[in-house]
Amino acid sequence: MEILTYILITFGLMLFVPPIRRGLISGPLVLLVAKLKLMPSISETEKIALRAGDIWIDGDFFSGTPNFKKILSEPYPQLTEEEDKFLNTTVDELCSMTIDFEVFSKRDLDKETWQYLKDKRFFGMIIPKEYGGLGFSALAHSAVVQKLASHSQVLAITAMVPNSLGPAELILHYGTDEQKKHYLPRLADGREIPCFALTEPLAGSDATSISSRGEVFLKDGEIFIRLNFNKRYITLGSIATVIGLAFTLSDEDELLGRGKDLGITCALVDSKLPGVVQGKRHDPLGVPFVNSPLSGVDVIIPLSNVIGGVDGVSKGWLMLMESLSVGRGISLPSTSTGGTKLATAVAGSYSTVREQFGLSISKFEGVEEVLARLAANTYMLDAARIFTLGAIDSGKKPAVINAIMKYHSTEIFRKAINDGMDIIGGAGISLGKKNLLGNAYMGAPIAITVEGANIMTRTLIIFGQGVIRCHPHAYNEITALEEEDVKAFDKAFFAHVVFTFKNMFKMVLYSLTRGYAYFTVSKGAASYYERKIAWASVTFAFLTDFIMAYYGGGLKQKEKITARFGDILSAMYLLSATLRRYKEDGNKDDDFVKYIGDEQLRIIQNAFNEIAANLFTGGIMKVLFKPFKWYMSVNSLSRDVSDKLSHKLALSISTNSELRGRLVEGIYHSNVYNKLQEAFKLHEKSIPTIHKIKAAIRAKKLPKTSVTSLIDEATKLGVITEDESSTLTLAQQLKEEVVQVDGFDDEQYLKREI
Ligand SMILES: Cc1cc2nc3c(=O)[nH]c(=O)nc-3n(C[C@H](O)[C@H](O)[C@H](O)COP(=O)(O)OP(=O)(O)OC[C@H]3O[C@@H](n4cnc5c(N)ncnc54)[C@H](O)[C@@H]3O)c2cc1C
Repeated sequence: MEILTYILITFGLMLFVPPIRRGLISGPLVLLVAKLKLMPSISETEKIALRAGDIWIDGDFFSGTPNFKKILSEPYPQLTEEEDKFLNTTVDELCSMTIDFEVFSKRDLDKETWQYLKDKRFFGMIIPKEYGGLGFSALAHSAVVQKLASHSQVLAITAMVPNSLGPAELILHYGTDEQKKHYLPRLADGREIPCFALTEPLAGSDATSISSRGEVFLKDGEIFIRLNFNKRYITLGSIATVIGLAFTLSDEDELLGRGKDLGITCALVDSKLPGVVQGKRHDPLGVPFVNSPLSGVDVIIPLSNVIGGVDGVSKGWLMLMESLSVGRGISLPSTSTGGTKLATAVAGSYSTVREQFGLSISKFEGVEEVLARLAANTYMLDAARIFTLGAIDSGKKPAVINAIMKYHSTEIFRKAINDGMDIIGGAGISLGKKNLLGNAYMGAPIAITVEGANIMTRTLIIFGQGVIRCHPHAYNEITALEEEDVKAFDKAFFAHVVFTFKNMFKMVLYSLTRGYAYFTVSKGAASYYERKIAWASVTFAFLTDFIMAYYGGGLKQKEKITARFGDILSAMYLLSATLRRYKEDGNKDDDFVKYIGDEQLRIIQNAFNEIAANLFTGGIMKVLFKPFKWYMSVNSLSRDVSDKLSHKLALSISTNSELRGRLVEGIYHSNVYNKLQEAFKLHEKSIPTIHKIKAAIRAKKLPKTSVTSLIDEATKLGVITEDESSTLTLAQQLKEEVVQVDGFDDEQYLKREI
């Protein structure tokens, strides 16, 4: 007994008296890590990338404590009157000037459209009014891009790029007063066309490896930079008048007094300067927006052209990381939502007016399943878009959440456009003015590739950045270890140990009670999913600690594992955004919350199972771990697919309802789209008439043949009224018209004329 008391006291002193703990545990640990080089080195550029942006509700997911009181009261913004007016007049007018098929045929927007874009300040949406821009909120900026993308991806990309990462954004945040005064008004009204040049033939995803160089030199008592660069894939590159250029700066003579290697720097380069080579074009999958290589040989710029002037030297990477992290939450989520809503709206109405085997194809279960997926993805994506924009508009820069948005919005769009294309069949494949989806389909892989190609975003950024940026203790531990600061390490490490034990206890509790030990604040259908997110989050937080301890510095290379953690984090975010929308829309869209909730929980459970399946795959640990794996799969977070639910969701977009209107709100209604809607509405109106004729057939009043061929006879016999007859006739005519596709004679086809 005495011995036990001594042992407990010794352990107590070691654990709870910091100076003793530091001497006996933390100090030796820091030394061991340094000696065995267990600590992966984190470069300065990696540190900047890791620190970029703010932590938002992602931090709570990493802590295992999502706070739904906070989540459900986060802003869910709305457009101002002025923004709404712009969206519904100026943007509509711009869309009405553009026929996307013509843009593809002529391989450019026409002159009037370019001029309109400039005159109406589309290139200056993010530029404040005081500099002549529109000064729009992130929500309005997104709404404009969304609407443009629902009509023409070319139009959307052209308007979007000057407002995303590029000269305007960088000057706004980091530029000198002179740069702001000179460039912002000229960028706002389109006198200057900007581009941003970072990517190179040998530096794509790894942008830190750029080889474009700038050398500082002195001439006539003034400091200049000589640039040599070779860039590719630059949007608006061949027509840009001002290039935002990223390069590595060196100062061999140390004229700036900051050493020889000054690191990545961004400057503004006038495209007319001697040595700049523009003019060639890339052809991004035939989608005719301007994208080109850009190079420069011995191009001379004054030092004052560095963004931020002399203070901006060496800060290029920081500027890029901070700005890119915000752009990821706006540009591509907006184009993707526009495209997804279009696919949903078109597939929903087309599948109703298109009849095969005597029925609207939307009635077939196979089609219904795809329609349900489209409807759910649209609901969830729009929820996440607005939720994220609310955070951005309130001043946050949620880097990890924005990476989730970039990855998932573009992946959802890719799925949605494929689903839409499958449903409309040949009408999606045959290009021409009547085709509403074909050109958008071409744009999907572009969105996947840009602003951080998706595979890397999933595997490296979402969880890789998140685990260090958002984890409450990891970053402090790493910096303490790097600096061999025993006191700081001790503090962070033991706080981490307590955190892990707390989460372990909570995880077991939630798991045994299937989440019922957690008290929800959501109402209606959302309550069930809030509970499951809380359970998923604490499991995620505990496993994150486990995986960090298990792989240590090697975790970075375990991309298949980090990708699955990224999927769990993303699913928790997308589902939380859905619950926020559910509340905003009056707690009434139960079917959507259930379908999306079940789907996201299946994704989470599947990821947990796959993580577990790939831990301890050999030896005694494999045997010991087996019961845990079994328990995890039996005590699943998720439940089975419901065919009844998917039936209801399919109905929500294949019938003309208030919900359908809400789902696809914000897209442009072109003439071709309007005709499809007219046919769709008339079809709905004529359904009771069709039922009357069918009843008459069953009663043997009318012969057993197609309903269309019986309209006259049914009218004569009084089965249907004259009004009903004309509505049904018109509906049939329109339905036949809207399923037609374009045809071209040889000459037109070969010349690509319309
Ligand atoms: C149409 C278009 C417009 C563009 N506009 C601009 C622009 O205006 N300005 C500009 O500077 N750039 C622009 N880009 C460049 C774009 O941002 C890059 O394409 C992107 O960074 C990817 O580079 P890459 O195509 O060379 O692919 P690579 O870097 O060669 O990557 C190929 C694949 O490998 C994956 N991968 C790479 N590294 C990893 C890793 N560590 N882990 C897992 N997977 C990895 C990627 O995810 C990708 O799937 C544009 C590109 C395109 C296609």
